[in-house]
Amino acid sequence: MGTGNPMEMFVHHPLCLLRSVPSLPPLNHLSVCFPSRFRYAVLGAGFAGLSVAWHLLKQASKELKLCIDIYDEVGIGGGASGVSGGLIHPYSPKAKLLWRGAECWKESIELLNIAEAAIISRELDRLTQDLNQNNDESIVWRRGILRPATMKNVDILNENARNCLESCRIESIDKDAAQNLIPNICVPLSAIFMPEAMTIHPQRYLQALFLACKKLVKSSLVSGYEEKEINLHKKSVHKLIELAGEYNAIIICLGAKAGTLPELSGELPLRTCRGVVAHLQLPNDIEDEYGEHSPSVLSDAWLAVQGPRDMVMGSTWDWKSRNYSPNVSAEEASFALEELLPKASANYPGIQKWIFKGARAGVRAMPPKTPLGSLPILGCIDDFVDGKDGTKYWLVGGLGSRGLLYHGWLGKLMAGAVLSCNEDVLPSELTSWKKIKLL
Ligand SMILES: Cc1cc2nc3c(=O)[nH]c(=O)nc-3n(C[C@H](O)[C@H](O)[C@H](O)COP(=O)(O)OP(=O)(O)OC[C@H]3O[C@@H](n4cnc5c(N)ncnc54)[C@H](O)[C@@H]3O)c2cc1C
Repeated sequence: MGTGNPMEMFVHHPLCLLRSVPSLPPLNHLSVCFPSRFRYAVLGAGFAGLSVAWHLLKQASKELKLCIDIYDEVGIGGGASGVSGGLIHPYSPKAKLLWRGAECWKESIELLNIAEAAIISRELDRLTQDLNQNNDESIVWRRGILRPATMKNVDILNENARNCLESCRIESIDKDAAQNLIPNICVPLSAIFMPEAMTIHPQRYLQALFLACKKLVKSSLVSGYEEKEINLHKKSVHKLIELAGEYNAIIICLGAKAGTLPELSGELPLRTCRGVVAHLQLPNDIEDEYGEHSPSVLSDAWLAVQGPRDMVMGSTWDWKSRNYSPNVSAEEASFALEELLPKASANYPGIQKWIFKGARAGVRAMPPKTPLGSLPILGCIDDFVDGKDGTKYWLVGGLGSRGLLYHGWLGKLMAGAVLSCNEDVLPSELTSWKKIKLL
């Protein structure tokens, strides 16, 4: 039994159970964060939710008894994350490094590596078990991304390219160099090439990241430490109040649907924007394969390469839609193709030979523009919810059209805030939306 001495309480406080302590919480949070077993609910199994879950497991000390329940009404990658183009780099369309782009880039690459490693070891496990090797599970294509320049942006692209990150370089290249990278690419002036930029397969990546979480739980059990647990519930959460009292903290990572919770309705400064992507395939009888090392293309329409004969083309921007369904009607698909094909074939005419295999859609949660750019919105949202049940409520939202870039860093920040019950560890630029709202 404790003596009531706050210093003794502190020894048991989750802060002491964090592997790295961002900063100390005010003492009045101690009662909220002081049970013998910590239960966290993560709502949403997209980029944001799975990154938060991974970092909660990773940052919690080995001694902490921890249970994470992930809720998703569709399953892993059921929202925008699962249909995204999977393009990742840290620059604006004008090739300017985004706010905190270096940290975001580093943390996302780290998560990609972790997810890849989880899959590779699973494949090895399988191989030794039944000698049945499955080669069709690559989740990252490290081929770079090419952005053709236009008359309008050529100077600014070249100017900004000079201030690129060493870990994600930007090369200004001429037409010939562009054609060496992608045979038959049509680049009117010049282009920029980001050799370290990547294209991922979002569904495979998210499945692999969840597998990595499960492996981390398993490894802590094998090491003989206190129980850790992670569960995925395929279940819709209609109201936060449904889960109130069951958890120490609930972290809302519902993407564009965060605002559909009654507690948050009208409270979040997010606009929704539906986007359709088309899956294209090159028929086997056509020789014109996309080069083995050729990069994806980012222009008015983008082409995300997923192999010599597989490609995703995107995306439309429908600001008025209230349609959250990933399914795309024949009519919507035909409008999307009408819009995207001319744009894509202006740079890569060969796309006309590819055949349409299907379309999917996702809804982006677009945050407000600030002088620093369009930044995601984070923070403790107890004020929006009746928090008297002792549960703390957190939000990770507004990842906009750059969820892949942001999710690693945001998940890490949010896990630190949740484990320490301290919003002050979050950069004020990401929480200031709450102050603006109150004005
Ligand atoms: C067409 C398109 C292309 C894109 N391409 C790229 C790209 O190439 N690169 C890039 O970086 N970003 C891209 N994005 C943006 C990126 O997809 C998003 O920023 C990112 O997916 C947001 O992740 P999230 O986890 O916040 O939300 P989501 O991925 O939407 O996840 C929210 C999850 O919550 C679940 N959910 C919702 N409501 C409930 C509920 N009530 N109860 C339980 N579960 C619920 C959903 O099923 C979903 O799985 C693209 C977006 C779109 C739409």
